[in-house]
Formats: sequence, C-alpha cells, structure tokens
Amino acid sequence: LLEVRDLVKTFGAGEAATHVLRGLSLTLEAGDLAALLGPSGSGKSTLLTILGTLMKPTSGSHRMLGLDLVAADDAALTEFRNRHIGFVFQFHNLLPDFTALENVIFPTAVRAGRETPAARARGRELLVRMGLEARVHFPSAALSGGQKQRVAVARALMNRPELVLADEPTGNLDRASAMQVMALIAEINRDEGTTFLISTHDEKIAAGCHRRIVVGDGLVRDAPT
Ligand code: ATP
Ligand code: MG
Repeated sequence: LLEVRDLVKTFGAGEAATHVLRGLSLTLEAGDLAALLGPSGSGKSTLLTILGTLMKPTSGSHRMLGLDLVAADDAALTEFRNRHIGFVFQFHNLLPDFTALENVIFPTAVRAGRETPAARARGRELLVRMGLEARVHFPSAALSGGQKQRVAVARALMNRPELVLADEPTGNLDRASAMQVMALIAEINRDEGTTFLISTHDEKIAAGCHRRIVVGDGLVRDAPT
C-alpha cells in the first residue's frame, strides 16, 4: 500500500536543528493493522503527519498506491488525502452543535458541495457499526468521550479510505472505552480490509494489533507481537 525509504525529517537548522527521523524506511501492506510505538518525542506524530501528506519529509521517498507523494504538488496531495486517507486524533475535534451524523458526513459534503442520500446512508451505517444507532441525531456535545471518539472513527471511514492514520486515538479514554474503540477498529480492518497505523502508549491497544512498529533513534523496527 505504501512505502517510505530513507525518510529524514529535521526541524530547524544549524545548532538548533532537531533530527527527528534519520533515514527511516517502512512498508505498510494493504490490510495491515499496525501499532506505532516508541517513547514520547521519538517521532510517531511526525511520521504520521508525513504519511498523511500533511507535511513533506526533509528528504527520502514516499510512495502510496503507486504515486510519488514527494513529487506531488499541494493540490494533488489534498485530492489524494481526501480520497485515500482517514485521520483519527487524540482529540476528536467534533463540531459540538452538530449531530453525530452531521459530523460524520460534513467533511465529505463540504468537499462535494452537497449532501447526497448515499452519503447520509453511509454515515448512518458507520454510526450503527460503531454502536451508536441511538445517538445518530444527538448533538456531539451530548456524547460521552468514548462515544465521541467512535464518531471520529466513523468520520475517518466515511470516504472508504485505504489507510487510516490514528494518533493516540484512545489516549483520552478510560480502559473500557479504549478497548471498545480498538475492537471496532479491528472489526473494520477485518471486514473492509482498511489498513490502520495507530500510534499508542498503551500496551493493551498494541496487543489488539497484528503488527508492532517501534520508533527509536529516528528509525523504525518491527517488533514481535
Ligand atoms: P508523543 O508520544 O509525546 O506524542 P511523538 O513520538 O509523537 O511523541 P513527535 O511529536 O513526532 O513525537 O515529536 C518528535 C520530536 O520532534 C520532538 O522532539 C518534537 O519537539 C519535535 N518536533 C515535532 N514537531 C516539530 C515542529 N513543528 N517544530 C520543531 N520541532 C518539532
Ligand atoms: Mg505524538
């Protein structure tokens, strides 16, 4: 699905430079359910931001679905990202006054310039899968933390992305809600073949993944599951 080779990311320059990624190479296969582990400051969020095409590496190659994403211009990257990549963050960033369903379909509707019945049906189906059938029309402000994060997962899946990048998606949740979100991610991975890369400090979340990728010294290695 995607491959990065010799990825370097340096912030700043000269004496003040921070060398975060130092020649990192990684391949994700379609259907991977992978945990991204490593100490705080090791570069997990930096790597996810680059893989999400939200930031370019200082050097190195980045290919996904046959496309050279280092060479691509901003317009092409935006288009690519909207079609192929979903994001889940630690803070759900839902619009509080809008319902769960509106939050799931809005990004797609805004881009398309209209809201189609098919989009509503897809959004609703995803919320049902997330166990939120009774909350579809609740304003998101009225949902619990775990429910909000499940809405955020549904939103990330709306456009059937091949890849979902999740940066500590359960970092703000209690144990039970975290495990529920992880179980739903695993179910989507199994049923739809969506590839997930999930950064986490939580061993129990990592244990729910099929692959462990550990960041350290600006590189990654696969660790036994
Ligand atoms: P955590 O587990 O705490 O989320 P992380 O592994 O996600 O950590 P990153 O957020 O990727 O770590 O940060 C890696 C390093 O890069 C840190 O030293 C950070 O200060 C630095 N860094 C990240 N973004 C920037 C930036 N925009 N400008 C300068 N330095 C940055
Ligand atoms: Mg981080």
